[in-house]
Amino acid sequence: EVALSVPDKQVDSVCPYCGVGCQLTYNVKDNRILYVEGRNGPANLGRLCVKGRYGFDYAHHPHRLTKPLIRREGVPKTGDFTMDPDRVLDVFREASWEEALALAGGKLAGIRDLHGGVALAGFGSAKGSNEEAYLFQKLVRTGFGTNNVDHCTRLCHASSVSALLEGIGSGAVSNPVMDVTRAEVIVVIGANPTVNHPVAATWIKNAVRSGAKLVVLDPRRSELARHAHRYLQFKPDTDVALLNAMMHVIVTEKLVDDGFIASRTIGYDELERNVAEYSPEAMAPICGIDAETIRYVARLYATSRGSMILWGMGVSQHVHGTDNARCLIALSLMTGQIGRPGTGLHPLRGQNNVQGASDAGLIPMMLPDYQRVDNPAARARFEAAWGATLDPKPGLTVVEIMDAIDAGQIRGMYIMGENPAMSDPDANHARAALAALEHLVVQDIFLTETAYLADVILPASAFPEKTGTFTNTDRLVQLGRQAIDPPGEARQDLWIIQQMANRLGLPWSYGHVSEVFDEMRRTMASIGGITWERLERNGAVVYPCMNEGDIGQPVVFTETFPREGGKARFVPADIIPADERPDGDYPMVLITGRQLEHWHTGSMTRRATVLDAIEPDPVALVHPLDLERMGITPGQAITIASRRGEVVLYARADDSSPVGAIFVPFCYYEAAINRLTNAALDPFGKIPEFKYCAIRVTPGGEV
Ligand code: SF4
Repeated sequence: EVALSVPDKQVDSVCPYCGVGCQLTYNVKDNRILYVEGRNGPANLGRLCVKGRYGFDYAHHPHRLTKPLIRREGVPKTGDFTMDPDRVLDVFREASWEEALALAGGKLAGIRDLHGGVALAGFGSAKGSNEEAYLFQKLVRTGFGTNNVDHCTRLCHASSVSALLEGIGSGAVSNPVMDVTRAEVIVVIGANPTVNHPVAATWIKNAVRSGAKLVVLDPRRSELARHAHRYLQFKPDTDVALLNAMMHVIVTEKLVDDGFIASRTIGYDELERNVAEYSPEAMAPICGIDAETIRYVARLYATSRGSMILWGMGVSQHVHGTDNARCLIALSLMTGQIGRPGTGLHPLRGQNNVQGASDAGLIPMMLPDYQRVDNPAARARFEAAWGATLDPKPGLTVVEIMDAIDAGQIRGMYIMGENPAMSDPDANHARAALAALEHLVVQDIFLTETAYLADVILPASAFPEKTGTFTNTDRLVQLGRQAIDPPGEARQDLWIIQQMANRLGLPWSYGHVSEVFDEMRRTMASIGGITWERLERNGAVVYPCMNEGDIGQPVVFTETFPREGGKARFVPADIIPADERPDGDYPMVLITGRQLEHWHTGSMTRRATVLDAIEPDPVALVHPLDLERMGITPGQAITIASRRGEVVLYARADDSSPVGAIFVPFCYYEAAINRLTNAALDPFGKIPEFKYCAIRVTPGGEV
C-alpha cells in the first residue's frame, strides 16, 4: 500500500550512513518516507548504494524512543541487553521532559560541583550534524569544564589523523574520491570500499575501465581486488614491512622526486637511512609478498603521472596505525604524488559526519578547526568567543575514559548518539565501566546497548527529522534537510543539547540551526566563507573556503603544506608487532569490520526492513580450509573466544579471509564481537587494535 502511494512532498537531503556523502531525495507522504532517490550531488552524481536507497524505514520503527525514560529505583545495571520493547518498562519508567532534564543535568552539575569537571566526560556522535557536534563539545568544555570529550573518530581514523597532522599539517584528505578518475595508478590499502564506501568504489571501477591501474593491498581479498591490476594479499599486521620495502625500491632505483623533496619537505635523509634495511628480499618472508612484485608495484606507483592512495581501517586500527599512515604519507612525499589532481592521500572517512565532527572540535585535544587546547593563543580566542575559561589540559580519549571510570576519576557521562557498549574494544569491560558510573545520560533514538545502562534516556531525532550540515570524506559541507517530524515526544538533538546546557548553568538560546552554523563560521577560519544562504542555494560547498565568494579547494597542498615553514615532514617507521599474537591457547586471528548491509553497531540498519532481511543473522567469515580443518560445516553455530570473552554465531565459508584469520562484523548485539577485541592502543592516535587479536574457535554453541 505504501509502495503504491504518491508522495505529498519531496525533500532534498544527504545519506545518513557513510562518508561518501551521497545526495538524495526523501519522498514523503503523511510524515512517512515512502522511498528514496539519488540526487545529482558532487560525490554521487545520482548514484546510491543499498544502504542509502533502502535503509530509511528505521526512522518509523516501533522501537523508537518516544518519551524520556528514567531508570527505576533499585534496578541493577546488569543483565543482558534486550531488543524486546515490552521489557523496557521493566527497567525504566516514563517521565516528563522537565523531570528527565532536571535529573539528567542536575546530577551531572552536582558531580561537577563536588569533584570538578575532570569527573565528567561526554561522547558526541559522528552521526550528528556539525552544529550538534559543535554545541556538544562547547557544552562539555564550558558547562562541564573539561576537555574529556570524544567520539568514534577515536575508533576509526585517529591514527591516520595523527600522522597526517604531524606530517602534512592537516588531518583531512588532499583530494576528493572522484579524483581517482584522473589518476593513472590507484592504490587501495586496508580498505573495502565496495562494502564500506560503495559509491566511492564505483568511481574506482569506472577509473579502471577507463585505463587506470588499480593496486589493492589487503590481507582480506575484497571484491574490489577482482578489478585490480595487482592484488597483494600481504600477511595481517605487516603493513610497515611491505610499505618500507616499497620505499626501499624507490630510493635504491632513484625513483624519488628530488625537486619535490628539496623544495617541499623536511626530514628525508632520516627516512632514506631508515628504509635502507628494508629490502624487498628481506621483507618478502615477513609480509608474504615476493620481492619482484614489491619492486613492480613500487615502480608503478612512483613513475606514473598521477598516483593516488586511498586507505581505511585496515591501516588505522592497529597499535602501529600511526606508523602505517606515516609510511603512506612518506610514499606520496618522496615521489611528489600529492598536490595535484589525480594524486594525493585519501583516508576514506567512515561515518557520514566523522570529518565534520572532528573539525567542530569533538575531540579531547583540539578546539574547533584543530586549534590545540594547550595552545594559549588558540584558547584565548575561544575563551573570548564563548565567554568562558577553558581547561588547558587535553582531555581523555574514548578508551582512556573507560579506564578512568575504573580508576574512580570519571563519575558521570553524557553520551549523545554513540554506542560504546557495542563499539568499544573489550566491550565487557566497557559495559562494566558504564554500569559503574554514578550517573549516565544517554540521548538516542533507540534503546541501544549503551542506553540500556543509563540512568536517564532522552529520546532524540533521527537523521530525516532535522536540518543541519554534514561534512563528507571529500571535505564537502552539505545540507541535510528535515523531511519528517520526530515521533511522540522525541525532540531534535540541538534542542536537547541546549536544554542540558541550561541545566548546567549555560544561558544558551540559539534559535534556528543556522545561528549555530554562523557562530561556527566566526570561530573556524576553514569554513569562514560558507554562508547558510549559499548552502541552501548550492547544497554543498567544499572547504577550505576562507572568504565569501571563494569557490573552495577540492585539491589542497598545491603550493604549500599547512605546517611550519610550509613544508611537509617525513617520519620514519619501524616494525612494531600486534599487541596480542596467536599462541597455543588462542591460535587464530580475529579481524573485525562491517558488512555492506549493516552500519556500525546495527542500531539503524538492523531496524531497516530490506537491509535486515538480506543479512538477518550474526555470521563469522571463515576460510573453507579452516572450516574443514575444524570439522565445521557452513551455517553451523561456532563459539569464538578470546582472553576477554566469547560469542556464538554462524560460520560462513569465505575464501577472501586468509587461512588462520576470521572476519566478524561488529553490528550484531546477539554476538557482540567487541566483547573479544583488544583494547591495546596506538600510542599516538589512541586507537584500539580492532584488526588483530588472538582467538580460539570451537564448533557448537547457541546463538
Ligand atoms: Fe549512503 Fe555511503 Fe551508500 Fe552513498 S555510498 S548511499 S553515502 S552509504
